Amino acid sequence: MSVRTPHLGFIPPYILSRIIDNGSERQRERALGTLSHVRNLLHNPGPPNRQPIASVLPERGRPGEPRRSIHDAQQQMLLPGVLARIEGQPPVADAAVDEAYDALGRTHAFFWQVFGRDSIDNHGFPLIGTVHYGVGYENAFWNGAQMVFGDGDGEIFNRFTLSLDVVAHELAHGITESEAGLVYFNQSGALNESVSDVFGVLVRQFSLRQTADQADWLIGAELLTDKVQGSAMRSMANPGTAYDDPLLGKDPQPGHMRDFIDTRDDNGGVHLNSGIPNRAFYLAATAMGGYAWERAGHIWYDTLCDRRLANDSDFAAFARLTVVNAATRFGQGSGEALAVEQAWADVGVTLEAL
Ligand SMILES: [Zn+2]
Repeated sequence: MSVRTPHLGFIPPYILSRIIDNGSERQRERALGTLSHVRNLLHNPGPPNRQPIASVLPERGRPGEPRRSIHDAQQQMLLPGVLARIEGQPPVADAAVDEAYDALGRTHAFFWQVFGRDSIDNHGFPLIGTVHYGVGYENAFWNGAQMVFGDGDGEIFNRFTLSLDVVAHELAHGITESEAGLVYFNQSGALNESVSDVFGVLVRQFSLRQTADQADWLIGAELLTDKVQGSAMRSMANPGTAYDDPLLGKDPQPGHMRDFIDTRDDNGGVHLNSGIPNRAFYLAATAMGGYAWERAGHIWYDTLCDRRLANDSDFAAFARLTVVNAATRFGQGSGEALAVEQAWADVGVTLEAL
């Protein structure tokens, strides 16, 4: 794990800016605190990868066994915080601690059982989570060594551990960092975001044993409180329709290349244009039918681990490799390969020539 990519966090800066412009005094304060911290993270993206608190975890166990440790920042912004629960310990009287522990376990189980991948680095990397980070902190992020979850402000955002796909999304950033290392900027950054959404929804679908047709394809449905007019943070099936709220505005995600957003905000729109590859995955998975992780998920995972995938790949290069990997796994001209090719065509991405 040598590639360091700073991450902005699950909640993109344009949403926090909306709250700062339109929110109540208290809402503004929480959003300002979160946004200035996120900007600081971008310039000082945390310590290099290391295993600072691995000593509290059991010695490396058998392959495929998770090694989790959950810590409590006690509303400070120091990492990792006070140890709250380690692998094998029973639940504690703190919902955020237990949710983080369970969600990391489900995510680890998904990657092990579906892809035979043992944790973030495929070598049993310890899964370290910190909850109660900051006061009313409105975000979750991966800092290159661990995952961090805020409590939300309680008015707009609930605590971030409530959503399994948000926890899985953050862990998947660690996997992307150790495989393709997709640079967190412009199209490669939007692919990085999209891959995290893809594995985020797949962990949820696997956990619920939902087929592609049964799933809602929403990201972060539990995050928004009842006061927000919206169903989730993002929709992979219909990007741009997740929320439409007086305070947060309308979900700005495009789902087709004709609506691609050129911007310097959000690292070149990494949380915006990710809607396009997100919808391509949704279209491919629903065209194949059945459990999305069994075919479309495998093709995307093979692509993420494909050494031909450059860390600055654009949509066209990534799309080409998904078609190549679909053909490798399922056969040239197979229904799977054709479904993937059609999905990219339907979102306006022209495959890069080989
Ligand atoms: Zn992300």
